[in-house]
Amino acid sequence: MNKGDSELIKHSMLENGFTETDNEETADICIFNTCSVREHAEKRALAKISIARSRKAAGKKLVVVAGCMAQRIGEDLVLKGKADLAVGPYQSPELGAIVRSHTKKDKSRIFLSQTEADFAERINFDLVKNKDIYPWHKWVTITHGCENFCAYCIVPYVRGKLISFPSEKILNYIKELAAEGIIEITLLGQNVNQYGQDCGEIPFYQLLEKTAAIKGLKKINFLTSHPMDFNSAIADVIKDNRNISRSIHLPLQSGSNPVLKAMNRKYTLSDYYRIIDTLKSKLDDFSVSTDLIVGFPGETDSDFRNTLKAVTDIRYDEAFMYAYSPREGTPAFTIKEELTRTEKIERLNELIALQRKISLEKRESRINRIELVIAEKSSRRSADEVSGKTFLNHTVVFNGSSADIGKESRVEITDVKGSTLVGKKIP
Ligand code: SAM
Ligand code: SF4
Repeated sequence: MNKGDSELIKHSMLENGFTETDNEETADICIFNTCSVREHAEKRALAKISIARSRKAAGKKLVVVAGCMAQRIGEDLVLKGKADLAVGPYQSPELGAIVRSHTKKDKSRIFLSQTEADFAERINFDLVKNKDIYPWHKWVTITHGCENFCAYCIVPYVRGKLISFPSEKILNYIKELAAEGIIEITLLGQNVNQYGQDCGEIPFYQLLEKTAAIKGLKKINFLTSHPMDFNSAIADVIKDNRNISRSIHLPLQSGSNPVLKAMNRKYTLSDYYRIIDTLKSKLDDFSVSTDLIVGFPGETDSDFRNTLKAVTDIRYDEAFMYAYSPREGTPAFTIKEELTRTEKIERLNELIALQRKISLEKRESRINRIELVIAEKSSRRSADEVSGKTFLNHTVVFNGSSADIGKESRVEITDVKGSTLVGKKIP
């Protein structure tokens, strides 16, 4: 999400006459596009902002804090002189114009309104020709904000309510991308399955289906699916379209029903298993990845063991695992934590060790299979090797050259090294 926003920020700066530098030390303006999801992310951003501030030569450097942390504590940062400008997610695509008028005459420093009129346009056709880090790939944000209010999560407060962008605009944008040679896109939203629910737009499965029909697209990824809204219509669209990724990211968060309830996740473990069964019944080959939080307030040892059990049963290909981080302003913040940081980290390490073993076994099960892979880059080890991702989102290294990068290859998997598949290209 922040990568998408950063692209818009950069574009608006260039449009307003600023130029990009890769030297943070000598830059006249430093913009930090920040995340607030965990305290650790904020601490790292604050340390970087403070370094930029200390480099402010003779009052010349402008320090701008943008994104979710700006929304949360930007006003305080500006008032305490730690940053010059605070620009929230609603306004960040207009950051160039904001900085420009600040450097001219308008000395306003806080841009954090979350009223509809201040929500800046996200789909910008000027960006069609902009190249991503991978020139054949593009992030496409389809919704902004979230109204699910999971008890631990700061996102609804800093990003605001759910806003779905018009499907016609999204699809036209993707068509233009495909005409420009983009072959892979990632549809983005805090919960893509809720697309359209705020405004009577088409449901997500239809948007996905229409996207898959766009000529030239070889791989369509989508993030994130909330289990509460994942339905069999989505699984059917995936089944019927070979150019949709077979990697489903479905955050479970906890394997214990009381914890899921306290988290306000609005599904039970059996609802979740039903989704996995639906996917199994419809798709012959797919992977599933997840997000898990350990040490949510009130999580007992038995709740944690249930998470380990769910992970053992479901056998995720990949998991993003976090120790609970209290976020001021969320309902969970008011619940007293009984675990120490060390105890949370102990649980986290046990979970990570289990998942690592499963991830390795899942990768080993790919040996002898033929996978479709878009090569992303030359391998660090050898100029005769490239690496990319399979349709199940596994990284694979195979024989190839720079001519293969950005193209789809058929690769036979021969081995697993570390967490990476090794394969050989089928001519
Ligand atoms: N919208 C997505 C969803 O509902 O699955 C996730 C978005 S959130 C930015 C990414 C992940 O961060 C969450 O799935 C959750 O596991 C984790 N997360 C969010 N708040 C957290 C917190 N306070 N402490 C630890 N992890 C947190
Ligand atoms: Fe946060 Fe829940 Fe919304 Fe995801 S669905 S962004 S975890 S509130």
